[in-house]
Amino acid sequence: MIKLNEAFEIVLQYTQRLEMERVPLLRAAGRVLAEEVTSDLNMPPFQRSSVDGYAVLAEDLQRLPARLQVLGTIAAGTYPDFALSAGQAAKIMTGAPVPKGADAVQMIERTQSISTTVVEILEAVARGANISPLGSEARLGQVVAPAGNFISPAMIGLLASVGKHEVAAYRAPSVGLIATGDELVEISEQPVGAQIRNSNSYALYAQVESAGATPHALGIARDQKSQLRELIQRGLQHDLLLLTGGVSMGDLDLVEDVFAEFGFEIFFDKVAVKPGKPVVFARAAKTLIFGLPGNPVSASTIFELLVRPAIRKMRGNSVYQNQIIMARLTQRFANRSGRENYAPAWTWYENGAYYVRPLPSKGSGDMVTFAASNSYLICPIDRTELHADEQVQAMLRPEFF
Ligand code: AMP
Ligand code: MG
Repeated sequence: MIKLNEAFEIVLQYTQRLEMERVPLLRAAGRVLAEEVTSDLNMPPFQRSSVDGYAVLAEDLQRLPARLQVLGTIAAGTYPDFALSAGQAAKIMTGAPVPKGADAVQMIERTQSISTTVVEILEAVARGANISPLGSEARLGQVVAPAGNFISPAMIGLLASVGKHEVAAYRAPSVGLIATGDELVEISEQPVGAQIRNSNSYALYAQVESAGATPHALGIARDQKSQLRELIQRGLQHDLLLLTGGVSMGDLDLVEDVFAEFGFEIFFDKVAVKPGKPVVFARAAKTLIFGLPGNPVSASTIFELLVRPAIRKMRGNSVYQNQIIMARLTQRFANRSGRENYAPAWTWYENGAYYVRPLPSKGSGDMVTFAASNSYLICPIDRTELHADEQVQAMLRPEFF
C-alpha cells in the first residue's frame, strides 16, 4: 500500500499532455492555450478617453471654475476633425479618441455646462488624467498571452479583441466509463432483490465533464472476465479509461486480473486513503486506466484525488493540485482508519474566516450525505483525532467554489 501523495506523483509521472488542436474561440473557454498570441493592433489604437467628460488642456484649469469654449462633441467611433488650443474644450464620451491639443479629460460630474458652446470646469486635473495613451495596454505585435495560459472568460475577451476567431489549444481527453458488477441495473430500471442502480457511471460522467474532458459511458460489465475483456477492449480507444468496482478482495473482483492478462503495466493497486483504499492504476499502449472502487463515495473521491489532476495535466494545465484551504474545525473528528481521511464536509466563509463541518456520513456507500457536501475535511494519516476549533485542511470541490 502506498501513500496518497506517492500515488499522486506516480499518476502525474505517467500522464502526458495531449497534442494541440485548433478550436473556434467560443469552444476554447476552459482549455489551455497552445500558441503564443500576439496583438494585431495597438491597444488602445488611439488616445482613448476613459470617462464621459470634457477634453481639456490641463494648464487652462489653474483658476477655477475655468470657463472654456466647447468646439464640439466626440462620440466613440468617430475621430474629431478639430484640435484644441488654449481656452478650448470638447465634450467627449467614454472610448472616444481625445482630440489633438488636449492633454487631459475632466469627468462630466466635475463640470457645469453653460450652453452648447460654453462649459465651466469645476476642478483641476493632472496632465494625462483619464486618457489611455495609444498602445499603452499592448503594442502591435506584442505577446499578449503566452502558450500555456489558461483560457478564462477574460482570456476569451482578450483573444476576441485581437481578432482570434480560432485558437490552438490542447486537446481535451476522451474518457471511457465502465461499471462492473452482477448486481447493477440501468437507472431506468426498478432494482429487484439485491440489485442496485448503476449510479457511478452517472456521477463520473458529470465529474469528467466538469473537469473539461469528454465522457463516454460504455455500459455495465458483469463480473465475468469475458465481458470485462470486451468492454475494456472498447475502452482502449480513449485517452483515459475509468472502471468502477471489482477491485477489492472479493472472489468476483476480477478487474486487476484482467488488466494483467491484457499485459497492462500496473503501477499500484492500493492507496492509504479513506475512502477508497483499492485503486488500480495501469497503462495500456495509448490509454491510462484507473480501476476505481465500487462504492460511490470512494469512486467519486478517488476521481477528485487522482483522476482530475491527471485530466488537468492532459489538458495542458500547469497546476494539477486540488484547492486546499485552512479552516476552523467546528467539532471533534476521529480517524481510526490509519489512512489519510477525506471526510465529506461543508465548508463556508464567515466574518473573515473559513469553517469546516464534517457531515455525519454513514460510510462510503452513503450518497445522501455525500451529495450534501461541498468539500472534504482532510485528516492526515498520522492523526487519530482532530480537535474542535483546530485549524485543519479542507479540500474544496471545484464545482462549488
Ligand atoms: P465492489 O468494489 O465491486 O465490491 O463494489 C463495492 C460496492 O459498491 C458494492 O456495494 C457495490 O454494489 C457498489 N457499486 C459497485 N458498482 C457500482 C455502481 N456502478 N453504482 C453504484 N454502486 C456500485
Ligand atoms: Mg463488484
